[in-house]
Amino acid sequence: MSAPLDHAVTRFAPSPNGPLHLGHAYAAVVAHDRAIDAGGRFLLRIEDIDGARSRADLAEDFRADLTWLGLAFEEVPAQSTRITAYREAADSLRAMGLLYPCRCTRADVAAAATLQGPDGPIYPGTCLRNPPLGCADPVWRLDVEQASDLAGPLTWHDERRGRQRARPEQLGDVVLWRRDAPASYHLAATVDDAADGVSVVTRGADLFAATHIHRLLQVLLGLPEPRWHHHALLAGPDGRKLAKRRDAPALSDRRRAGEDGCALADRLRRAFFDTGVSLIEDLDMGL
Ligand code: GLU
Repeated sequence: MSAPLDHAVTRFAPSPNGPLHLGHAYAAVVAHDRAIDAGGRFLLRIEDIDGARSRADLAEDFRADLTWLGLAFEEVPAQSTRITAYREAADSLRAMGLLYPCRCTRADVAAAATLQGPDGPIYPGTCLRNPPLGCADPVWRLDVEQASDLAGPLTWHDERRGRQRARPEQLGDVVLWRRDAPASYHLAATVDDAADGVSVVTRGADLFAATHIHRLLQVLLGLPEPRWHHHALLAGPDGRKLAKRRDAPALSDRRRAGEDGCALADRLRRAFFDTGVSLIEDLDMGL
């Protein structure tokens, strides 16, 4: 299927906390081709909001990996340089009365939660009902019910799965601000996609549910509505999605070993994957 000539701006937004693997290469090829086939622009954004886990040497590898795959990119500012913009966004949500402080630990949440969402237990609202005491810095959660009431019914468009009704309650009162990695992924990615002029947010189907929250945040923050393209994921021989922590082979190792990166990108375009690797379609992921 050829892409519309809509001058799409897409981005590849890896976190430098582990090397890129074949799944990332596929994501980058999809995002690159979606933009370039449409006469648009392909951006690289280093998502290094989590300072403690981010490594500058990996970001350098990511640039070299993309070039090796034959994917020309424009780099936009990394998340670590944009904390002020995230703080302003959090402050404006707080001024609207939509954020509340929470001091629950992960274990507290697991013990109190009765509902499971796509990303784990849904926060049961303990600190919303009983404002927490203590001197440690709290995290700040989005009051999804109040935010949804304010925003009204919302929809968003996925290029593969069509029009979606926004259901941010699927993830519940997500954390948007914390002390260590200041902004959460949800807040930072939403602010960045707007700041970078991204018109088609291209990323893996494992982040499909996050989009319900991102759409809500866009409306609350007065940001433009992009389209989304959630692509299928690559799975290893065990049928589970390739993951850094399960030691999927690093692209940087393949590059240093002299493999032809452009040929690899072409094989990914033709969905001709390495032995033992296959696509997991959305349906297999329960979407
Ligand atoms: N930084 C995220 C990751 O490395 C990607 C986020 C996104 O594409 O929205 O998984």
